[in-house]
Amino acid sequence: MVIAQAPQSHLAGVDFLSARSTPDTTLSPNQQLLPLSARTTATDTLEIGGCDVIDLVEQFGSPLYILDEYTLRAASQQYRHFLATYYPGPSQVLYASKAWSCTAVCAIVASEGLGLDVVSGGELYTALAGGVDPQLIYLHGNNKSLDELRYAIRVGATVIADNWLDLENLVHLAQAHSDRPIRVMLRITPGIECHTHEYIRTGHLDSKFGFDPNQLTDVFQFAKQHPEIQWVGLHAHIGSQIFELNPHMDLADTIVELWVTAKAEGLPMTELNVGGGLGIRYTESDDPPSIEDWCKVIGKGVAEACEVRSLPLPKLLCEPGRSLIGTACVTAYRIGSQKNVPDIRTYISVDGGMSDNPRPITYQSQYRAILANRMGDSATEVVTVAGKHCESGDILLKDAQLPPCQTGDI
Ligand SMILES: *Cc1c(COP(=O)(O)O)cnc(C)c1O
Repeated sequence: MVIAQAPQSHLAGVDFLSARSTPDTTLSPNQQLLPLSARTTATDTLEIGGCDVIDLVEQFGSPLYILDEYTLRAASQQYRHFLATYYPGPSQVLYASKAWSCTAVCAIVASEGLGLDVVSGGELYTALAGGVDPQLIYLHGNNKSLDELRYAIRVGATVIADNWLDLENLVHLAQAHSDRPIRVMLRITPGIECHTHEYIRTGHLDSKFGFDPNQLTDVFQFAKQHPEIQWVGLHAHIGSQIFELNPHMDLADTIVELWVTAKAEGLPMTELNVGGGLGIRYTESDDPPSIEDWCKVIGKGVAEACEVRSLPLPKLLCEPGRSLIGTACVTAYRIGSQKNVPDIRTYISVDGGMSDNPRPITYQSQYRAILANRMGDSATEVVTVAGKHCESGDILLKDAQLPPCQTGDI
């Protein structure tokens, strides 16, 4: 992995080491195909963050994950800025670190004032190593081990209870942990359908995550009987790579309604977490709403749902993942062999594949490829970009439009 940082001369006025007070809101990162700092050099190569991609591959090898720090910071700043603009109460943006968990990324988002959502002990360890404040770390998971729960409690992270086993384990651990109450949120399945791949839908009723609406009265009563735990709020996440705003509008109202139920049961919770889910542009045909559009729907939606019920505003949390970091990232591969199957297709093989990117083989996700060493050549060919692994399904891009390729191209 390499973090590409643009020198000041390329992006005038951008301070890469500290958070800026006024974010650059001209382009929504999640609506772009390439990182915001990407450009073509005088020698017709791709440059990211002021670094020539060809030089990076020569220096660090391939396949190479390249992260554009500028894009990640811009997206972080936009989420904070627009949530504060459209939501009059307190808010906190959390980075859903499963999108890319490494210490450098954790350190960058933390320096932008974001908290972190983690789904395993390993991600929790990485977040702490990246210097994230444990009070801003939230542990998720539908099957947390006792060790993971103990770890989160010991460092003072918030646990998001997903199921009855979590609740029983937390109550048990709370007895041994007397120095400060354990902070717990309850994850609910809001029963909202959205159009995305079935593997990344989480908010509809047939989901492995969270408590179903019909279990909630029992859950709230259980919680009330355990005041040794600090029940801080409710969480819901409806899925990922969502291009519609309506499911999020519905979610804002649904989560406030469930919060009313919890209050009526005698649980004075103060935080609502609406999850993530905003989609990004992987190919020209993807057309997601902007970060501003999403924050507006969520911020106004929650505020209005509270206003009509005469409720004080909760602390509003959201946890975007891919829309913070996806566009900031590019993977560079070197092309090796080619195979032409007459009248069927041409396979272009690269030096990575499902080992560095399991998404195409997991959910047939689409990507866009470009030739980084000959940016000006026209994309006249339709080829299939294959990985190097001994699995026929190890295909990175089917029917990719590329210029004629040669061995050694990047
Ligand atoms: C994956 C996930 C997210 C982030 O989803 P994105 O689509 O990447 O924004 C947020 N919360 C939870 C619990 C998740 O599992």
